[in-house]
Amino acid sequence: MGNEDIVRLFEEFAVLLELTGANSFRVLANAKVARAAEASTIDLVHLARSDPKALSNIDGIGGGSAAKIVEFVTTGAVKELIELRTQVPAGLPALLGLPGVGPKSVRLLWQERGIVDLASLESALAEGRLQGLAGFGPKKIQNLHDGIAFLKTAVGRVRIDDALVVAESAITHLRDAGVVDQIEFAGSLRRGKETIGDVDLVAVAANAPRAMESFCSMPGVAKVLVTGPTKSSVRMEDGIQVDLRIVPEHAFGAALLYFTGSKEHNVLLRGRAQQRGLRLNEYGLFEDDGLDAPQDRRAPLASRTEKELYEALGLAWAEPELREVRPLDEVCGHAPLVTVADIRAELHAHTTESDGSMPLLELVQRAKDRGFHTLAVTDHSRSSVQANGLSIDRLLRQIDAVREAEARVGGIRVLAGSEVDILVDGSLDYPDDVLAQLDLVVASPHASLRQAPDLATARLVRAARHPLVHILGHPTGRLVNGRPGLELDMHAVIAAARESGVALEINAHPARLDLRDLHARMAIEAGVPLAIDCDVHARDGFDVLGYGVQVARRAGAGPEQVINAWDAARLHAWIAARRGR
Ligand SMILES: [Zn+2]
Ligand SMILES: [Zn+2]
Repeated sequence: MGNEDIVRLFEEFAVLLELTGANSFRVLANAKVARAAEASTIDLVHLARSDPKALSNIDGIGGGSAAKIVEFVTTGAVKELIELRTQVPAGLPALLGLPGVGPKSVRLLWQERGIVDLASLESALAEGRLQGLAGFGPKKIQNLHDGIAFLKTAVGRVRIDDALVVAESAITHLRDAGVVDQIEFAGSLRRGKETIGDVDLVAVAANAPRAMESFCSMPGVAKVLVTGPTKSSVRMEDGIQVDLRIVPEHAFGAALLYFTGSKEHNVLLRGRAQQRGLRLNEYGLFEDDGLDAPQDRRAPLASRTEKELYEALGLAWAEPELREVRPLDEVCGHAPLVTVADIRAELHAHTTESDGSMPLLELVQRAKDRGFHTLAVTDHSRSSVQANGLSIDRLLRQIDAVREAEARVGGIRVLAGSEVDILVDGSLDYPDDVLAQLDLVVASPHASLRQAPDLATARLVRAARHPLVHILGHPTGRLVNGRPGLELDMHAVIAAARESGVALEINAHPARLDLRDLHARMAIEAGVPLAIDCDVHARDGFDVLGYGVQVARRAGAGPEQVINAWDAARLHAWIAARRGR
């Protein structure tokens, strides 16, 4: 038990009080205690035991709340809360996870329409029973539809960048402590999925108990869930679970293969082993003698590295990003996938003119320092008011500034461009005679991201057919774990892009990763080129490149399919050809 338990306790109080219609003063008071506990550097649980009177001296904690904390710490529960819980259907608070839905709306749904959980909300929506409910217009009802679909897919998974930070700091900690000889992260993180369940680490350690002890006591561990000689699991302060498995050195490859997955890929590999009279598991590849004896008593045919294992199965090694639901002959020995080192151009970047934090010259210098041969400056267009989008006058002046910056920095081609808004009807935010003066046009949707699917598709198809557009930027506008974005008929958008010669962007920001892997694969199959862009806004903006590259790799893209991986002459010719130059 710790301060975070007290935070949760009072948050629950606040939510339940509001749902039961308590007066707002009481709701606020409880929310305030939660915030005070969260901000406190004092161990409140310890204080409640040692000096309970001192609790109410803490800012934000009144006498009544202090008594609740003491009751909670000494008995493990608070009677008043148990009582409150009986007044509210258990599934009701989950509705608060819907974007844009607060306690007031939830209370209305419950009191006026008898909705008690997500399932009953879904059927009420399907039956049109929310009609006439105050504050629930068509737009809000559409948001509820989207929100439910979204909640169902996003539960319990964290963004890849959050998981990667945790994995890398754990690995660094264990390496610096000198307690592991080999260590890698496995699982969906190694396969480069956009969201991750748990972080899986596989390691070799001469002294396993020491390694486990170091793992369980590393900074950021909130709770040790289980610990043993071969496996420990911890929950980090940000809620991510990390599992460490320690395996014998000779079985490292087999364990890494097994814990990297996917499950479907492993099933295919095991089937292949069976066909050959062999048996594959996390210890290695063995002759199948029909016995269920412990595997490690027998000498494996292969186990030390993944490559050895694939070879012993008559296969070439498979890139982890390709190990999904796909036949083995499609993924083993696949043509080389695009790498971060292949990327030599950034075609989507913002400066202080719109919502970037780098002035033009610094942006150009940083792109050059990264070894890029080309940078496109693409600030926002005039309709993106919150992003300080450029008026036509400002845009025309920026073209001159870009020419000047290119000459001043030297050694890098700098393109004058724009990230022009695709307006709600698919038209663009600048007239054609203005767009024609730019070297490169990225067209992106930013507003009206909850359009009906047919309208959204027509909108993007129209933009893709625009003769002055080079790249469709973050085509769906989705945010990972944030908002679903446009529901496009991606086949139609890709067909339009192919017809008109437009590239589709994989926006590399880990919050976007838009196009997503499946759609990027559809684009490749249709012969539509991809652009992997960082959508640079700040000094560290180029650092997200790896996430975008990983999406392209999951789609099976080689450098040939990615325009930023082309050499300067080829890329510039492609860009100029869109202008008939
Ligand atoms: Zn954008
Ligand atoms: Zn942008």
